[in-house]
Amino acid sequence: MPDFSSNPTPENPSSQAPCTCGVCQRIAQTRQGKNPYFVRELETGYVVIGDHQRFPGYSLFLCKQHATELHFLEKDFRDKFLQEMALTAEAVYRAFQPDKLNYELLGAGNNKHMHWHFYPRREHDTPAPGPVWQLSASELYDPAWLPSPEELDRMKKRLNEELDRLLL
Ligand SMILES: [Zn+2]
Repeated sequence: MPDFSSNPTPENPSSQAPCTCGVCQRIAQTRQGKNPYFVRELETGYVVIGDHQRFPGYSLFLCKQHATELHFLEKDFRDKFLQEMALTAEAVYRAFQPDKLNYELLGAGNNKHMHWHFYPRREHDTPAPGPVWQLSASELYDPAWLPSPEELDRMKKRLNEELDRLLL
């Protein structure tokens, strides 16, 4: 299995250097075993449950490389990253059984580092059909949507079981 974790990128020629990016910090926390949302390490990224569960099953796939655009990734890494993104999406779909799974590859502010968001969508889960971003930040990030430790464990277990099935 190729080790993609140490490949330099145009954004970060020395990937060993500490990075202050929010996504890199979350990855560092994950590698230290201190991220309760961590689900699974794949070759090119980390599968995690989203912090706020306004959309039940909301999950992310964090790119191991600090890169801001797909075209900044070396081709083999990019191909594998996209393949693993699709596999993660399928696992999220099977684990949480939405009416529709929406994907977004985002990055902004101190989190420009590319990361995939997977939003399980259900009928009437927003006031009008459309992106989740029609909701205010105060609704999306209301502490009421933080999962309890038991809920988080259940979600991680379900997602890991689906990843197991797809990876075998
Ligand atoms: Zn980063």
